[in-house]
Amino acid sequence: MKTTSDKAPQTPPPATPPKITPMMAQYLAIKGQAPDALLFYRMGDFYELFFEDAIIASQALDITLTKRGQHKGEAIPMCGVPFHAYENYLARLIKAGHKVAICEQMEDPAAAKKRDGYKAVVRREIVRLVTPGTLTEENLLDAKQHNFLAALVCDKGAGALAALDLSTGDMAVYPVSAENLSSLVSQLQPSELVVDERRVTPWKEAIGDLEIEHRNLCFSYQPKTFFATEAAHREALAAYGVSSLDGFGAFETIEQTALGVLLRYVSLTQMGKMPVLKPPRRDLLDDAMVIDGVTATSLELLQTQAGERKGALIGVIDRTVTGAGARLLGHWLARPLCDVGAIRARQSQIDYFYHHEDLRADVRAMLKQTPDMARALSRLSLGRGGPRDLAAMRDGLKNGRDLALLLEKALGESAVEAGDPVCVELQQLSLALSGHGAALIGQLLQKLSKALSAELPMLARDGGFIAMGYNPALDETRSLRDNARRVIAQLEETYRRKADSRNLKIKHNNVLGFFIEVSAKNAPPLMAAPLSDFFIHRQTLANAVRFTSVELSELDGKITRARDASLEMELTLFSELVEAVREAGPMINQIAEALARLDVLSGLALLAQEQNYCRPHLDDSLAFEIEAGRHPVVERALAAQPQSATPFIPNDCRLADGGMQKLWLVTGPNMAGKSTFLRQNALIAILAQMGSFVPAKSAHIGLIDRVFSRVGASDDLARGRSTFMVEMVETAAILNQAGPRSLIVLDEIGRGTATYDGMSIAWAALEHLHDVNRSRGLFATHYHELTALGNRLKNLENVSVQVREYKGDVVFLHEVASGPADRSYGISVGRLAGLPRSVVARAQNILKGLETRGGANSTTDLPLFEKSEPELPEKYTQIEELLAGLEIDDLSPREALQILYDLKNRLQD
Ligand code: ATP
Repeated sequence: MKTTSDKAPQTPPPATPPKITPMMAQYLAIKGQAPDALLFYRMGDFYELFFEDAIIASQALDITLTKRGQHKGEAIPMCGVPFHAYENYLARLIKAGHKVAICEQMEDPAAAKKRDGYKAVVRREIVRLVTPGTLTEENLLDAKQHNFLAALVCDKGAGALAALDLSTGDMAVYPVSAENLSSLVSQLQPSELVVDERRVTPWKEAIGDLEIEHRNLCFSYQPKTFFATEAAHREALAAYGVSSLDGFGAFETIEQTALGVLLRYVSLTQMGKMPVLKPPRRDLLDDAMVIDGVTATSLELLQTQAGERKGALIGVIDRTVTGAGARLLGHWLARPLCDVGAIRARQSQIDYFYHHEDLRADVRAMLKQTPDMARALSRLSLGRGGPRDLAAMRDGLKNGRDLALLLEKALGESAVEAGDPVCVELQQLSLALSGHGAALIGQLLQKLSKALSAELPMLARDGGFIAMGYNPALDETRSLRDNARRVIAQLEETYRRKADSRNLKIKHNNVLGFFIEVSAKNAPPLMAAPLSDFFIHRQTLANAVRFTSVELSELDGKITRARDASLEMELTLFSELVEAVREAGPMINQIAEALARLDVLSGLALLAQEQNYCRPHLDDSLAFEIEAGRHPVVERALAAQPQSATPFIPNDCRLADGGMQKLWLVTGPNMAGKSTFLRQNALIAILAQMGSFVPAKSAHIGLIDRVFSRVGASDDLARGRSTFMVEMVETAAILNQAGPRSLIVLDEIGRGTATYDGMSIAWAALEHLHDVNRSRGLFATHYHELTALGNRLKNLENVSVQVREYKGDVVFLHEVASGPADRSYGISVGRLAGLPRSVVARAQNILKGLETRGGANSTTDLPLFEKSEPELPEKYTQIEELLAGLEIDDLSPREALQILYDLKNRLQD
């Protein structure tokens, strides 16, 4: 049953009822502090919502909408969610794009009554504003993904975006322009963006685009004053407890403002509380391989087009065993490196784990037992943590130390020379795992190990989490309580004898505390003299009667006092432990990062071994030489289908020759594997530069600064752009931005318009890429006419995906060979797909006609690839159609004979 602390007054209503009850007045005042959030107004065991909030929440949560009292003559809509299970409801509201203000009772209802009498309203305050970007609860977050809150500060030309994962303390700031804002947002995938409600050009359009492109992004518009430079700087300095941010890097003024604005928003939503922040990183988009939003979507790096992790590249390469490891892997994949030294360093560590299988297995087994320290630390430092978060610290620190020892031992035993770079890097990792041997960490681990009991409650206020032996005063209070309990247990026997009732029991409940209970049948003697002087009646139920005694109520009081005292002591000890953790916060974060790194490295090593990936050679050249490359996702999908007879067919790709970048023009029938081939090479390049091994026999890649991947003919109705418009906007972006170090993957550009228009655009784009951009690239097309360009453009090479014709059907070989495709086989593929026979026959017919006419009119620059036959008289075409449409096996001999007569007659006509 629903209980609330603010019961309606029992006295009869006054003659003229007040327009508004004191409680409603309080509600409205608090609601005014968070007008754009749904207010969870705590009443006893429930969070209640009123007015419009109640209507919205009841619909979003599918819960009953009721009414409570009246406001301005109208019934007030109300709905509520139970306090003990509110997280689930909260998660659903946040997911549906709402913000929620949590308003708690800040005092005991009894205290309020004492103060103000029966009309008292319990003091309430908003303790937290829950928004999509400020979540910290384990069950509201995806363990494998960062949850970034971002703030954008934009000036006329320059801009800066700061991003913080409040649940881990990761903070970064990026200089950004209106042009690359979308790329950055795609890379970070924040769940909330704090942005100025005024829109200045050229940002107006860029933000408008974001609103359309990132449908799940929550925009938190703030007034101009929120972005004031000086106040923002002060906020940033205060949060980091420094007098200048210079110690963290060279931040531009606007970048510092973005940091400050972001931290101000955190402070606003967390009511002044701040998590342990990691030092802010200054990331430049150009420091990493640039992968814009369209490319990331088209290559399905972090999620599939349907928004799933499974089936995307990350889903296939992720062998991490911790949430922090999965988050770091996502970061590496979104920002592949552009520094050969740093890439090789990652490679050599992966290589070490590749070749030390036993160590890898031990490391992974231990990592599997390692909790998410970064998230537990954030919860603790925001005052939202519990005893289990302290245990996460203890276990994480212990595992970090054990893993450091394991690594050190392995390095000592393996054949790696002490000065070998891989040895140095792994030693550094090992040092980081142990917190660089800091005494602070050792002491904290010891303290937590001693302090925490084996069984831990979720919430500190449930008590019982401090181990015996940690605090003598607590132990003493507990033993008082336990002694009293023992005495009570002994009393039962004494009272049975006294009352001469074998079924007398001493029980406990939250309302009466300890009490004596006998069955109704045995109660009368206890209620009559002389026993009634001893057994004091408390309650009569249908089948039982309850009593107490002076002795028992004294013991009960003692137990209650001891319990309250020990809980208070435990809560004080809890705060002390949280403080100790907070103090070691920066170091704990370093250890958590080292654990995540170890997880990613060992996971990528396992992947390489399981999936037979090779270590690519990276350098500053313009090479792009892939031998027997495979598409990691398609390969896995094929392997997962036991009925599929075809294994994945590997293919080579060489996009440089004699130090010159090359373009490959890929032709071949539909379904041959053009798109797969194109994408696999882009994926190999991305994997290689994130430091991973790659699905190929060998790979040599000269650093790539940007990858562009576009697929023709996908529309964007939301933005009011037609299929073809999208295609052209994206092609324009590539032709304007790609450079000699870029890798371009263009799949069927120009397909969304009339044939000759499309072909001409594809033709001109290809020439531009070849002559002006001079990028390495793969260009797939169905316009076979383009293959003629191979004769004219020096660095363009024709390749085609092979098929064979067998008994009139196409057989896909999925092999990429030199030279253009001979024809399209589109109609054969249509037949395979189950087009009605008559349609196939008619299409063949039309094709023949078109090819004949096209051949007669074509210029020498637009050769058709198959010579046309002279046009047949109409009657032959009809006969051909009739024959093609026949199901011979379904004909009776008589029908067959009749058709023969018919054919002969037609010929004679
Ligand atoms: P379309 O022109 O119709 O877009 P396409 O030539 O781009 O077709 P893909 O979409 O790349 O063809 O591939 C079609 C299917 O062929 C894939 O889904 C995959 O199952 C299979 N396939 C592609 N490449 C290979 C390969 N190298 N080895 C084995 N199977 C492959």
